[in-house]
Parts: sequence; structure tokens; C-alpha cells
Amino acid sequence: MKIGFSTLSLFMKSFEEWLETASSDGFNMMEILCEGPNTWPRIALSFGKEPFQIFESYDIDITLHAPTIDQNPASLNPGIREETLIQIKETIDMAVETGAKVITTHPGLIHRLEDRVRGMGKEYSIETLTEANQYANDQGVILSVENMPNRYAYFCNTAQEHSYFIKECGMHATVDLGHANTNGDVGSFLALKNISYYHLSDNNGEKDQHLSLGEGNLNLNLLKGLDNVIIELNNYENVLKSKEIFINYRKDAHVQ
Ligand SMILES: [Zn+2]
Repeated sequence: MKIGFSTLSLFMKSFEEWLETASSDGFNMMEILCEGPNTWPRIALSFGKEPFQIFESYDIDITLHAPTIDQNPASLNPGIREETLIQIKETIDMAVETGAKVITTHPGLIHRLEDRVRGMGKEYSIETLTEANQYANDQGVILSVENMPNRYAYFCNTAQEHSYFIKECGMHATVDLGHANTNGDVGSFLALKNISYYHLSDNNGEKDQHLSLGEGNLNLNLLKGLDNVIIELNNYENVLKSKEIFINYRKDAHVQ
């Protein structure tokens, strides 16, 4: 079983501190959030290969979360789409250096809530992500698009649209159970093909609150049998708490 956490919970620490924490707390997977000053791929790559050598000393599966703040593959502005593509490609280059097999990225959003604009944004996003995915394939890295919370502005807010993106772009899926829970139909996201891994957090079914497992209304029975999970919370104590809950619920799967 593979279980890990997002470095969101230990923001601003070094690669070595993250890896050390992961291994001493019994994690065998870790997702690096590429938004920090030292983990933003363009900066991280500018230090050369040396800082990445530490990853060889640990038996921990690494995934990367591409920068998504202010990025938008669906932007109506060609310059923003171009920059988004550049930053995903840089994340792919960083995956090669860290030995990460999978990168998660977002499908983007629209800023004008109209069907016509949404349709255009969807086409642009698919175009941007298809090109990014081709580059990932060339580098031997899996690019995985994440489902988003249930808001009209966001793409991949339903399992049906998530599936459409996966098919059109040739990408894999990262299924965020917290995001899926805001849509009320977690099961259909879990039934998607080509899921690379899962993000875990809980919420009240309306807002993406990133609560510890068990503190919201996510149906924890859905955790049974899940593998390759990343606990995505802001606070590391809550990560450890959620890890225990996950392990207990997952165990039930073997009993039954
Ligand atoms: Zn995400």
C-alpha cells in the first residue's frame, strides 16, 4: 500500500526535511507542491542537479503538483496559456530530476460565467494540456489532471467532464476525494479509468475545506481498498491523524 502526504502541510521546508519526515513517520509516497520559493520548478532547476540527488537516498515514491496559482491552461489570453504550458513543461523537467513518475495539474477555469465562454475555455484547456501531455510522454512522465470542486467556473467538476478531459488529452486522472465530495457523487469519480492516484481530505460537502478525515461528511467507506493516496491538508498533525483513520478504514476492506 502506498500512502503519502502533500508538502502543503510542511510548506517552506527543504527536500531533505520532507523526505526525513516521510520516512520516519512511515510514509512511502510524497507529493511536492511546486509553489514554494525553492520548489517552483524554474528556480529549483536553476540550482543544477545536486539538490535533487537526495531523492536517490530514500525509497519514497515522489509525485509533483505543478504550480497552478495564477496559471490557467483554459485562459482566453494566449500569453497566459503559453506561460502555463511553459511552467508545466518545467515541472516535467523537474520530475525527471527528482525521479517523480507522476505530475498532477489543474484543468483551469473561466472568469466570465457564460456557457459560450466556458465552451471556448474548455477547448483551450484541452489544447494546452494535450501539448503538455505530449511533452510528458516524451520525458517518460505521467501527466495527471485533477478534478475540481463543484463550481461552474472550474473544469473537471463532474466525473463526466473529468473523463472527457482524460480521453481528449490522453492524460491520467488524479481524483481528489474532497473535491469530488462537493459534487456529491464521489463514486463516479472513483469509477474513472486511468486514475494515477488520489488526494484525500474531508469537508462539509459544499466547500473545499481540507479538513482531517472524519471531520466532514465524506463517506469513509469509500476509502476501502484505495491505494496510492496523498493526504492533502494544511497541518501536519492532521495529516498523521488522517493517516491512522485511512489505515483503519482500509483494513476493513481485508476483513470483509
Ligand atoms: Zn490540486
